[in-house]
Amino acid sequence: MEASSELHPEVVKSDEQWREELGRERFEVLRRGGTERPWSGALVTNHADGTYRCAGCGNLLFGSDAKFDSACGWPSFTEPAVAGAVVLLEDRSHGMVRTEVRCRRCGGHLGHVFDDGPGPGGERWCINSLSLEFEPFELG
Ligand code: FE
Repeated sequence: MEASSELHPEVVKSDEQWREELGRERFEVLRRGGTERPWSGALVTNHADGTYRCAGCGNLLFGSDAKFDSACGWPSFTEPAVAGAVVLLEDRSHGMVRTEVRCRRCGGHLGHVFDDGPGPGGERWCINSLSLEFEPFELG
């Protein structure tokens, strides 16, 4: 995958506003690029049918049909629900070259995408639970 997109978020707020709306933990991940501890996230082992939205702005990001159990300790997906929902950026922090995944709408940090996924596309989208809001499908 290519990490060449630029970030031009539609949803722009001050750090103060974000911190107030998101709370400390979500703020650290979404707005500061932090990473939750592996296996600490509420959605890692969620197997329910539904959609995963950005916890910062509500943007639809992933569907449960693309979620799979990876051994990494973070919610993992084979692909986004909508390709244009995310922006990929090169991340050279921590002495590695990784592809960072951000929400296109609010610029929030979601996680990283790797090339060792199980699907036909071979991608593993490794996303923080704290960056996501799960919305179960209504039954009936
Ligand atoms: Fe967002």
